[in-house]
Amino acid sequence: MTTRPRILTGDTPTGRLHLGHYVGSLENRIRLQRDHDCYILIANVHAFTTRAQQPEDVRRDTIEIVRDQLAAGVDPSLATFVVQSEIPAIAELTFLLAMLIPFSRVMRNPTLKAEITSKQLGDHYSFGFPLYAVGQCADILAFRADLVPVGEDQAAHVEMTREVARRFAQVYGAEVFPVPEPLFGRVARLPGIDGVEKMSKSRGNAIYLSDSTDEIRRKMARLYTGRQSADEPGDPDNVLFQYARAFLPDPARVEELAAGYARGGMGDAPIKREVADAIDALVAPMRERRARFTDDAVLDLLREHARRANAVAGETLARVKDAMHLTFA
Ligand code: ATP
Ligand code: MG
Repeated sequence: MTTRPRILTGDTPTGRLHLGHYVGSLENRIRLQRDHDCYILIANVHAFTTRAQQPEDVRRDTIEIVRDQLAAGVDPSLATFVVQSEIPAIAELTFLLAMLIPFSRVMRNPTLKAEITSKQLGDHYSFGFPLYAVGQCADILAFRADLVPVGEDQAAHVEMTREVARRFAQVYGAEVFPVPEPLFGRVARLPGIDGVEKMSKSRGNAIYLSDSTDEIRRKMARLYTGRQSADEPGDPDNVLFQYARAFLPDPARVEELAAGYARGGMGDAPIKREVADAIDALVAPMRERRARFTDDAVLDLLREHARRANAVAGETLARVKDAMHLTFA
């Protein structure tokens, strides 16, 4: 049995992985996979909260997200990929944990509220949409995770998970779940190229890890800073400089650019180009490695990993049902 601290993290297949994922969570997964027992969820069931009518796209992106991570350096002999729909214990646990959270508490979850606004769900979202927040508690607790590497937008979900873990221990007197800690990335919230919202698959403002050199340059050129002219002093903390700090390898170079920018007389365009080249240098080896992983290879891997994941989540569920006096067979 392993005694390494356990990680649960993941993504929803509403598109491919972008730079926000990389700096917010993926980098930490790669860094921590050696000395942690690492489970990486692909939340394909939760993708149906906004993509119920596009099942083929959800399936395609499930495979692409795994490929993105293998290309970025996740080692499948160290980390376990978890396709949510392959793990029945998660669904069962979602229902059981839903009894421990007041409905009003779920609807007050700031992440959920922000998503309703930014994804323009109005009041016509499905019943399953708010349920996904409880489902995310189940994802984390099914693996009895100690640590959850996420972007800042997910802080509220981890907080709710901590409450549920404590509540379970209090009500059923059983220590099944560790109270998990969030681990934010080097950049906790990377803005999108619209310069306003966080970079997000669903909002058309993302630079993808699989984008070509041309696409990266075109998107960076569109990055919206709101600056009117190169003559006026620029804000060295604006979105362009958030990108520069995130992706230029040399901090001294960033500060040199920032000083010139703040004085005025330095346009956005050359800095955008320099940052685009740094992003391209980061993702170029990923582009190359991605081609090595065929669909069949990914599917074989997912089948094998589902066995490992079901063993862990199944054991959690058995312990939960015991604690809840739900074991009869
Ligand atoms: P969607 O628009 O469908 O919600 P998303 O782009 O927000 O997609 P998720 O799958 O919801 O991506 O998030 C996966 C992980 O990546 C989460 O841990 C999330 O916090 C992190 N993440 C997503 N976007 C960013 C970002 N812009 N900056 C930092 N971390 C991010
Ligand atoms: Mg999201």
